[in-house]
Amino acid sequence: MLNIVLFGPPGAGKGTQSEKLIEKFQLVHLSTGDILRAERKAGTPLGQKAQAFIEKGELVPDEVVIGMIGLQLAKNKNANGFIFDGFPRTTAQAEALDKLLAENKSSITLMLALEVNELELKKRLLLRGKDSGRADDQNPEIIQNRIDVYNRETAPVKDFYSKQNKFFVVDGIGTIDEIFGKLSVAIEKNNK
Ligand code: AMP
Repeated sequence: MLNIVLFGPPGAGKGTQSEKLIEKFQLVHLSTGDILRAERKAGTPLGQKAQAFIEKGELVPDEVVIGMIGLQLAKNKNANGFIFDGFPRTTAQAEALDKLLAENKSSITLMLALEVNELELKKRLLLRGKDSGRADDQNPEIIQNRIDVYNRETAPVKDFYSKQNKFFVVDGIGTIDEIFGKLSVAIEKNNK
């Protein structure tokens, strides 16, 4: 199985690159942000619970997103592998993911971290907000909070994979195809 954590701050290009990578490597795309937005739209209790956190740019509690990922892994038992996009966002989530995968005799193959500077992230998020209508991409204060939450709570997840020698950085500035090329090379090199 090929299991990739596509990592990076909000606006780094994880969603865009995931769409291309799932096609090339025949993987299942698991984006916790997408799942939460779908739950919210459908008005489920989970979606309602998540709403307040998403609106403020705070993280949804670990047990909620871990439960969601557990369900998706169980639903896709025959997958070639997964791209985890926007998950894990805390070390507790990373530990839980290792456990869930181990239950299926599987593990993370590598974490690819897209690096983009803060100024560029803010520019991209505001542009995306205009196109998509996503409220959390339109308010500069919420954007700043999401970046701060990333730096404080999510960036340490790098160490978790670094200790397992699974952490790779890719420059997230460039054209979509250039970045996709670099990600693909890193995957092919490490998928042995
Ligand atoms: P995203 O689309 O990945 O930027 O996620 C949008 C929002 O959903 C985040 O700002 C969080 O409020 C919530 N969210 C998504 N993934 C997670 C996660 N793994 N852990 C906690 N909250 C999450």
